[in-house]
Amino acid sequence: MTLNGKVALVTGASSGIGEATAEELAAAGASVVIGARRTDRLAALEDRLTATGTKVLSVELDVTDQDACQAAVQAAVDQFGQLDVLVNNAGVMLLGSIVGADTTEWTRMINTNVLGLMYMTDAALPHLLASKGSIVQMSSVAGRVARLGSGVYNASKWAVGAFSESLRQEVTDKGVRVVLIEPGMVDTELRDHITDQNAKAAIEERASRTRQLQAADIAKAVLYAVTQPDYVAVNEILIRPTDQV
Ligand code: NDP
Repeated sequence: MTLNGKVALVTGASSGIGEATAEELAAAGASVVIGARRTDRLAALEDRLTATGTKVLSVELDVTDQDACQAAVQAAVDQFGQLDVLVNNAGVMLLGSIVGADTTEWTRMINTNVLGLMYMTDAALPHLLASKGSIVQMSSVAGRVARLGSGVYNASKWAVGAFSESLRQEVTDKGVRVVLIEPGMVDTELRDHITDQNAKAAIEERASRTRQLQAADIAKAVLYAVTQPDYVAVNEILIRPTDQV
C-alpha cells in the first residue's frame, strides 16, 4: 500500500483512463477525489471503491469552468486536509479535417484539454507545493506526432506538453514532480464523440487492426510515476500498442 495516507484527485474519472487510474491509486492505498460531469458514473465508481475500504469524495466537475476547478480542489482539501497527486486526465478528441471544420469543436477541445488542465493545475499548485506532490498530465502520442485529420487535437496535446515542461522547470526544485503520460490508442469511449464521419471511419478502421491498450495499462503507468522515491522524477512516459506504427 505505497500510497497510504496520500490523497489523489483524478479528473475525468467517470470513464476510461481516469476511472482506471482512480481504481489503481485507490488499490495502492490512496484516498481519491473523483471528478467529472456525469455524476451517475461517479456514484457507481464511488460505491465500488468505498466497498473496498477506500475513502472517496465525488465532485461534479466541468474543467472548462474555472470556479468549478477551484471548488473541486478546495473540497478535496476540506475533506482530506491535503492533496498529494493531481491527475489531469479529462479530455475530448473531436478529430476532423481543418478545412470546413465545425470550429465549436475546436473551442471544446482547447477549453477542456488545455485551459481545463491549466485551471486545475492553478487550483492545485499551492497544495502540491505544500505536500511536495505530483501532477500527472494526460497528453498523448498526439502530443508528439501530428497527423492529418487530427490538427486541433494535436495542437491541444502539444500545448499540454509545452505547459508541463515549463511548469516542471519552475517547480522541480521545490519538490513537485510533473509527469507527462503519452498513450497511444486505448480502448475507451474517447472516439465515440467524433462527429466527422471520415475521421470516425478512419480511426475505427485503425482500431479494428490494432490490439489496443486497455485503460488499466495506462493507470499502471500513472501508479509507477507517482510511487517513486522523492528524488526520482518520472518526467515522461510514452506507451503505444505494439501494433501502432
Ligand atoms: P473517455 O472518453 O473514456 O474519458 C474522458 C473523460 O474526460 C471522461 O471521464 C469525461 O467525463 C471527462 N471529461 C470530458 N470533458 C470534461 C469536462 N469538460 N470536464 C470534466 N471532465 C470531462 O476517454 P479516455 O479515458 O480515453 O481519455 C482520457 C484522457 O486520455 C484524455 O485526455 C485523452 O485525450 C487521453 N488519451 C486517450 C487516448 C485513447 O486512445 N483513448 C490516447 C491518448 C490520450 P464526463 O463526460 O463525465 O465529464
